[in-house]
Amino acid sequence: MRVDSCVGCGGRAASRMREAIVRGLAHRLATAACYPVMYRSVEALPLCTACLEKLPLIGDTICPQCGRDGKTGELCPDCQKIPAETLQSNRSLLRYNEWGKDLLGTYKYRGEERLASFYAQLLTIAVHRHYKGIRFDCIQAVPLHQQRLRERGFNQVDLLARRLGDRIGVPVRSLLLRTKMTEKLSKQAGRSARESSMADAFSWAGESLKGNASGWYRVLLLDDIYTTGSTLRSCAHTIREHAGTRGSIYSLTIYR
Ligand SMILES: [Zn+2]
Ligand SMILES: [Zn+2]
Repeated sequence: MRVDSCVGCGGRAASRMREAIVRGLAHRLATAACYPVMYRSVEALPLCTACLEKLPLIGDTICPQCGRDGKTGELCPDCQKIPAETLQSNRSLLRYNEWGKDLLGTYKYRGEERLASFYAQLLTIAVHRHYKGIRFDCIQAVPLHQQRLRERGFNQVDLLARRLGDRIGVPVRSLLLRTKMTEKLSKQAGRSARESSMADAFSWAGESLKGNASGWYRVLLLDDIYTTGSTLRSCAHTIREHAGTRGSIYSLTIYR
């Protein structure tokens, strides 16, 4: 892939029209106060004009819990069914379409360098858009099971966590271990099966989590995609069990 090529389609990233589209996107994503930051972040995306225009951004009206597109800004039907929430909220930047499926697949199995910086850039935009002003103590990537880590050679989400951490100045911690191998989501029948197979999938890695001066911690959990949220809820549950309930756990994913 050429350095100035688009990671979305392989075409030329630069064009005369690009500037106007970058400005339009930055306006859509930013509040007035952070427009310059948002502009620089969108500008740096290695995408051509056409791919920038078709970026499947989640809109401004979302479910306040899981961050999916909504019509009213109220809890979506799935979130209404979840009792006492361990996760403060989830936010995602993009809808998961065919384009995202192909691109994420390429990144997961080949670990391409340019895609890693592309995704880290998208996550940085998502933090500025949704979690501006929250002082996170640390970022925790959803861990892979040792066996899967050996098969794949790297944890694709951990790589993104480190890059995001560098960009927003938040340390990455390894508070959790994945102790249970779970079937791929597509092989599991239904939402409740997924929820119960994810229960106790993680354990505490033994590090301490202190939080701020008044003992309140804020953790940012990171994953590539939020499907039912059961993975992230299971992580949050394990953190609460060990670090206590005096804290807030937020999650962030690229896709929803
Ligand atoms: Zn393109
Ligand atoms: Zn929801």
